[in-house]
Amino acid sequence: MLFGTLEAGGTKMVLSVGNEKNELLEQTSIPTEAPEKTIPAMIDWFRGKGIVSLGIGTFGPVDLKTDSPTYGWITKTPKPGWSDKPLLPPMRDELGVPALIDTDVNAAALAEWRLGAARGLNNCVYVTVGTGIGAGLVIEGKLVHGLVHPELGHMLLRQEAKDPTPDGFCPYHKGCLEGLAAGPAIEKRWGKKGYELPEDHEAWDLEASYLAQMCVNMICAFSPEKIILGGGVMQQKHLFPMIRRKTLELLNEYIQSEVILTDIDHYIVEPGLGTKSGATGALLLARFAWEENKKNA
Ligand code: ADP
Ligand code: ZN
Repeated sequence: MLFGTLEAGGTKMVLSVGNEKNELLEQTSIPTEAPEKTIPAMIDWFRGKGIVSLGIGTFGPVDLKTDSPTYGWITKTPKPGWSDKPLLPPMRDELGVPALIDTDVNAAALAEWRLGAARGLNNCVYVTVGTGIGAGLVIEGKLVHGLVHPELGHMLLRQEAKDPTPDGFCPYHKGCLEGLAAGPAIEKRWGKKGYELPEDHEAWDLEASYLAQMCVNMICAFSPEKIILGGGVMQQKHLFPMIRRKTLELLNEYIQSEVILTDIDHYIVEPGLGTKSGATGALLLARFAWEENKKNA
């Protein structure tokens, strides 16, 4: 049986076909342009591939209420052309298969929880630190949607005294997590892209400080059993030990958990599925869509 997966991103759409072993077999990428152009192109790629259902992990904000008339629509977004536009409905209807959608980060969290770094646990958070910062959340074995969906990238942080641009760059909140620590904030602060900065550059100490504040907030708010950090900026592997050390410093032994106090190397970790968390999560969503549909048939 074959399942369709879509990782809908602000710059590109990554489409693939996967199987029941959760293997991704075939993949393509289509630039994200106006929905009137991009959606038909995606439908064309899937057509004739024999998929039985579709799973979508998408950029937000997105309507995730399954009983809403605008389920699977992108809501208000600065992304040109995408405000209040349906994403899931035309694909589901044109391809004639059941479909499920979640945020890109919830999809990745789902995959890491079921098959990756948080396998066997009931609570985890998956964070991507890239063009933006977003986090998917599993609490007591359920993906969290809540009122809309979590927007952990916009949590407010305290400014670091060593930050030359402490006001931050988020168009909505300036110095929120994303405005202080996403890839574009690094670039604006230091005038160079993250991957152009040497490992001993002061940028990384500051970056680790902000990401440690984030970890502390997550730990205090959700008590996750694992914190998984992915995305382009986290390709800087030397950040991991710095973030762990600073998280311990900030917590100051307040949280009495063995894993945090004695084994933080296995608590704040890289994605177990590497760069495949998002697509694998979309595949799991597709499988749920198919199973739900079979149950209701
Ligand atoms: P996106 O978030 O757009 O899906 P990425 O997760 O690759 O894609 O994030 C892109 C951001 O991460 C850019 O701001 C880029 O400069 C930064 N980035 C990508 N690779 C690296 C790297 N190896 N080191 C530091 N920053 C990186
Ligand atoms: Zn913000």
